Amino acid sequence: MAVLSFKDLREYRACPRAYMLSVASDCWRMSLQDCLDAAVRRTMSYADGRRVMGRRATRAEMLAKYRQEWGACMEDTSPGEGQDVAEFFRQGEDCVRRMADFMDASDGSEIVAFDVHGVQSLPFGTSVRISIDEVYRRGGSTVVCKYITAPDEGLRKELSSDVEARVSALWAMYSLPGADRMVLQWRFLRTGDETECFVRKPSMEEAAKRLSEEISRVAQDQAFPPVLDDSCRDCPHRSHCEAYLSTLRRKEAMPKGAVDDLVREYAELDEKVVALRLRLEMLESRRDAVKAKLVGYADSAGSDVVDGNGVSIDIMRYKRANLPKDKTAVIKRLKDTGQYDAVSMVNYSRLRSDIVKGVADPEIARMALITEDIRVRVRRRQGRSIRGVSPAEADVFSGGLFAPASSNY
Ligand code: SF4
Repeated sequence: MAVLSFKDLREYRACPRAYMLSVASDCWRMSLQDCLDAAVRRTMSYADGRRVMGRRATRAEMLAKYRQEWGACMEDTSPGEGQDVAEFFRQGEDCVRRMADFMDASDGSEIVAFDVHGVQSLPFGTSVRISIDEVYRRGGSTVVCKYITAPDEGLRKELSSDVEARVSALWAMYSLPGADRMVLQWRFLRTGDETECFVRKPSMEEAAKRLSEEISRVAQDQAFPPVLDDSCRDCPHRSHCEAYLSTLRRKEAMPKGAVDDLVREYAELDEKVVALRLRLEMLESRRDAVKAKLVGYADSAGSDVVDGNGVSIDIMRYKRANLPKDKTAVIKRLKDTGQYDAVSMVNYSRLRSDIVKGVADPEIARMALITEDIRVRVRRRQGRSIRGVSPAEADVFSGGLFAPASSNY
């Protein structure tokens, strides 16, 4: 496993998947807060460099440097959803002004090291990359100073267990000569105030032990589970995070309210369709029963027309040739006798007609079953038309109400 930095660990604690994407992605991006932090720290390094050389940077020079570094960092930055880039830029400028206030307090002669980067070995065979903003002497103490650009939301409560500061102090104690009385100092650039505490070796070594255990746990992680919460909207890796993208797809595909409406509407329509089908079956059954009575009456009266009040019923009997379901034999016969091209292969209507008329090939006619059907046609003589058409048209359209009847009629 590569040597982790404190920034890696902070990222892992917030979301293991974000850490994995930050080290594995080909399109590495940083957040707006990281952009602000990097631009301020590069400005700090520039200003400290000038200070120790005895050529203090003016505020205007520091702000110019900050703008330059901000522009460079923005090329690698992916702002969060709804984040205001200009607002972050202004907050970074304010951080630089407060940093200048802190630097005004000394000429820099006490600085031992600044913008330090190194690797600290830890118990159990692990190590960590450290970065320290400033180390300076104050009397007999060595102060390890950390500038904080993030909003001070709960940060102060965590200082008593700030593993990063303690392990950084451990590095300073072993690496810088004469550093045996250590002070940890935190300078808050969002507010301009600072706090500090003495730290002793057992406390630093305990922090190193805890840090090593944490790094070992990270090294064993194979899954890097995503932590999906509101902070995902500001995550610079969200465009590569499948877990986050899938939640977006679910949200974008259909808002929950719209899904609820569709489900309710479908259930209502389904119930209506089932009810209508039942009603249709009842009506058809009733119509068949009435039709059977009318046909019986017409037979007894010796007529194919039954007149009612404004409506007449025409009863038409016809023969129907039913071809077998499996038409292999029919087709073979048609082909063998050269009739195949002469009949409709779509519905055999002409063939059926020829069979009924008795002019079809006798061999094929024997394969068909002839049945007798009865059609009933409704004719309205006056008043409202059926199906919304005029009475004159009704006679034509009423054919749609024809119902095939069984040959028993
Ligand atoms: S989008 Fe959310 S879950 Fe995905 S990596 Fe970023 S913080 Fe983690």
